[in-house]
Amino acid sequence: MHDFQYKEGTLHCEAVPLEKIAREVGTPFYCYSQHTLVRHYKVYEEAFKDVKSLVCFAVKSNSNIGVLHELVKAGAGCDIVSGGELFRALKAGCDPRKIVYAGVGKTEEEIEFALKSGVLMFNAESSQELFAIDVVAGRMGKKAGVALRVNPDVDPQTHPYISTGLKKNKFGISIDAAVEEYQLASKMKNLEIIGVHQHIGSQITQVRPFVDAVERLLAFVDKLRAVDIHIKYIDIGGGLGITYKDEAPPLPSELAKEIVPMLKKHDCTIIFEPGRNIVGNAGVLVTRVVYTKMNEGKTFYIVDAGMNDLVRPTLYQAHQAIQPIDQAAMGRTKLEVDVVGPICESGDFLAKDRVVPEFKKGELMAVMSAGAYGFTMASNYNSRRRVAEVLVMGDKYHTVRQRETWDDLIRGEKVAS
Ligand SMILES: *Cc1c(COP(=O)(O)O)cnc(C)c1O
Repeated sequence: MHDFQYKEGTLHCEAVPLEKIAREVGTPFYCYSQHTLVRHYKVYEEAFKDVKSLVCFAVKSNSNIGVLHELVKAGAGCDIVSGGELFRALKAGCDPRKIVYAGVGKTEEEIEFALKSGVLMFNAESSQELFAIDVVAGRMGKKAGVALRVNPDVDPQTHPYISTGLKKNKFGISIDAAVEEYQLASKMKNLEIIGVHQHIGSQITQVRPFVDAVERLLAFVDKLRAVDIHIKYIDIGGGLGITYKDEAPPLPSELAKEIVPMLKKHDCTIIFEPGRNIVGNAGVLVTRVVYTKMNEGKTFYIVDAGMNDLVRPTLYQAHQAIQPIDQAAMGRTKLEVDVVGPICESGDFLAKDRVVPEFKKGELMAVMSAGAYGFTMASNYNSRRRVAEVLVMGDKYHTVRQRETWDDLIRGEKVAS
């Protein structure tokens, strides 16, 4: 459930009509519901209350500091994958002791920044990275908390671009070779080996892959114990899917029912890194129909948002539901259309061959489930200004990111003199 519902004939976010925001902020814009966000976070807390747990929101899914701040206030930590995300997490007020840092290519500069900030742990992905963290920590006179990201070789049965836990993926260290890596790491003077990490993929809609992965991970933790390496944190990553169309992913509580009994046997703190599951259905992209046209019997709705604003449909062949803001339009004749942006690419679409009620020029449309991997993947391609982001709280809304200006487009540029 989310807080985007029709009231008095028009689509609202909580108690605010999206049409009002469109009038005042302009289109396109992303709109997030604070209530949905926080409720989704609380569902995790509740589901895993029988084990020591920490929910680290995956910042890459939505990194607006206004959004992060609401989750942080509710108690969340952050899962980051770059120095830039660390900067954002800290700006949003996140306690560095609740930050976990993953990513296959951490630079020395980023490692130094993370150590200076005092993050809880690095989720290291290779032996060279362990070595680099050890060197930087030594230079700074610090001890770095480290988990190794192991690759359990589980097929999450999702889109290949968002599968990350298979042998052929670039992520982590093969679970078979990992004991040896831990032994090497435990001899490094400036590292404190405190955890184990995995993240098998995204938009996972079944419990099975999680259960399989956790099973393998726990067997691995036992192997570590056998060689006298004792860890405190088991980080099982993110990846739980959401409903875009008719998927029926398990609820966090259903996932918990399966894996909490497994986890209870180990006296460790369990870390989760949900992104999409918390923020995906807490956001929509609102866009306006600029033109409608027919070509060779095919209908196109040309809207003011494009693939630079929301790339998921193009990049992952992702389905995002299209809804009129005006509820009365729902009753119109339905027809099959392409909803396309203004960008000079045939791949520039938000929906393809989609059956929607008829829209007219100038009308507003909501692209649903756009809160995760929406704005964070936006670009300035075609020199389009990135759109505004709005956070609704009850009957008020806050612009948590202004629409970019023309000047923003050329910031830092100059002609050679
Ligand atoms: C992307 C990512 C996540 C979040 O994935 P979701 O599918 O959005 O839950 C969590 N952990 C790591 C390491 C990631 O790379």
